[in-house]
Amino acid sequence: MRNFIYDQPATRVIFGVGSLDRLSDEVKRLGARRAIVLATPDQRKDAEEAARRLGDVAAGIYAEAVMHVPIETARAAREFAKRHEADCCVAVGGGSTIGLGKAIALESALPIVAVPTTFAGSEMTPIYGITEGGLKKTGRDRKVLPKTVLYDPVLTLTLPPNIAGPSGMNAIAHCVEGLYAEDANPIMTLLAAEGIRALARSLPIVVREPANLEGRGDALYGAWLAGTVLGSVGMAIHHKLCHVVGGTFNLPHADTHAVILPHAVAFNREAVPEAMRIAAAALGATDAAQAIYDLAVRIGAPVALKDIGMPGDGLDRAAKLATENPYYNPRRVEYSAVRELLENAYHGKRPSA
Ligand code: NAD
Repeated sequence: MRNFIYDQPATRVIFGVGSLDRLSDEVKRLGARRAIVLATPDQRKDAEEAARRLGDVAAGIYAEAVMHVPIETARAAREFAKRHEADCCVAVGGGSTIGLGKAIALESALPIVAVPTTFAGSEMTPIYGITEGGLKKTGRDRKVLPKTVLYDPVLTLTLPPNIAGPSGMNAIAHCVEGLYAEDANPIMTLLAAEGIRALARSLPIVVREPANLEGRGDALYGAWLAGTVLGSVGMAIHHKLCHVVGGTFNLPHADTHAVILPHAVAFNREAVPEAMRIAAAALGATDAAQAIYDLAVRIGAPVALKDIGMPGDGLDRAAKLATENPYYNPRRVEYSAVRELLENAYHGKRPSA
């Protein structure tokens, strides 16, 4: 067995149907009396419902969160928090909303209570990202890790299949890369395998039977594990590619993950046979790359970069950017192989065996 360091900060997790009922108690448990509620404009209703449950602990609603936390939005939200003398942020939404909460906490150390409504997993990580001048800068700081997370599958019922499916593939990506992370450890490997199992069995139910609360809960459980893995160990070529391609060409976050993942896995296939064996077993298949591609097709997630807004003449540039300052990856990251990976992803080719 490899040597490893396990250093997991604790987050209190309340999981299950009806968890939102505990919101007020959980905020008060942190000693907070003036909580602001964050959401996207689309999810204002969810924020209003959360504020209603907070009762006199609710100090205001800021429903202006947008993807990738533009610095202007972060500044306006920080100002809102100050103006309302907030002592807690309740973030109701996906990675964009939780990311806005993190931008506030980064400056003020306000505690975050996260109520995730997608499967992106940001609620379990100390990773923040803020976009300035078209560039997204990410970092790690334990201040931004939510103190409490309420996972209530009921809140995911409104997540349409075309967002839910790719969001689940995003979560699978955290698990898969956690299996071959530079700082992988046996606990995270267990969580990653279980996360893949839960997501692979639940996502087809989530998109086929949108009202199936059991399936939504199972996917949220997988997303929790996936977020924990993402927050604990380093990611590799897949996340680097998604960061570069998504950021440079402004592609939708979860869709980009869904498209790239099978190709990133195929790229690393020979370099990490044990990780691939674990991933394939969790997917109930013999080849992880093909099984991930097939799952994406089955749940109606996009499989081709050309279908999600990637310009064909951007592939050279993307390959160049991805190989300039590569993250750790178990296989050497070279231009020609990455260019080929992107070409396959552009056309949505099923990885060959
Ligand atoms: P998102 O938060 O941008 O949500 C996508 C859209 O779906 C939004 O319009 C939102 O309002 C809507 N939505 C969310 N939940 C809904 C629901 N239950 N019902 C109806 N509509 C709903 O998407 P995301 O994929 O969760 O987050 C993406 C962002 O999070 C990216 O910026 C990504 O970089 C970041 N992220 C960060 C981390 C981290 O650890 N820091 C992890 C994962 C993702």
